[in-house]
Amino acid sequence: MRKPFIAGNWKMNNTRAAARELVAALKPLVADVKDVEIAVAPTFTCLQDVSELIKGSNIELSAQNISYAASGAYTGEISADMLKDVGCTHAIIGHSERRQYFGETDEGVAKRVRAALDNGIIPIVCVGESLAERESGKTFDVVLRQIVNGLSSVKNDEAARVVVAYEPVWAIGTGKTATPDQAQEVHAAIRAKLAEIFGADNAEAMRIQYGGSVKASNAKELLGQKDIDGALVGGASLKAADFAEIIKAAR
Ligand code: PEP
Repeated sequence: MRKPFIAGNWKMNNTRAAARELVAALKPLVADVKDVEIAVAPTFTCLQDVSELIKGSNIELSAQNISYAASGAYTGEISADMLKDVGCTHAIIGHSERRQYFGETDEGVAKRVRAALDNGIIPIVCVGESLAERESGKTFDVVLRQIVNGLSSVKNDEAARVVVAYEPVWAIGTGKTATPDQAQEVHAAIRAKLAEIFGADNAEAMRIQYGGSVKASNAKELLGQKDIDGALVGGASLKAADFAEIIKAAR
């Protein structure tokens, strides 16, 4: 039985004061939730503040990215060690915005996933097709290629720790959501591919989140699908009440 996992990707939003306010508002709203894993992913500058506020709570801390390198001459990068030092347990890797605007590749994703696993950080690995790719019938080719290449550094006995987020690019921040059937179809294909790579038992244990304009009004139906084990939430995670409603829909 996979425990549902809801993570909030705050993207490049919130100063430290706003981040503190948001997490302080969220904490009491979800304090009684035990059957859903919860994480928030603030910007790097807010990690320390949020880390202090969530200590002892049921909210975990995720970074929005992680360096593949351990230390040294990598200007602008943040290492796994540094993330652990500030209390991160998770890192989002290969988000479509990283791929689209910052040239992130499947090869880079695989290296970042390796760095995360080597340091006890759970990678949330994002995959998803663009609108053009969907419309030209390439959804499965693209997503499954991202899975194979992006997870190429994962050993079989590590697979169960890895979280995959299927996020169709055309649904991110657009207000357009994949229908539950569309999402389930891709999630099932991802799980079948994971079974091919890591074996059926590992694939059954791996969580596959859906992301793309998830909100309180569509969460229940999406999360009710057999292979949808949670959500990676962008916009709606910036309001404590909205995010809490999505978390409760996963119960
Ligand atoms: C995301 O950033 O991962 C995301 C899914 O964003 P939104 O929920 O705003 O579409």
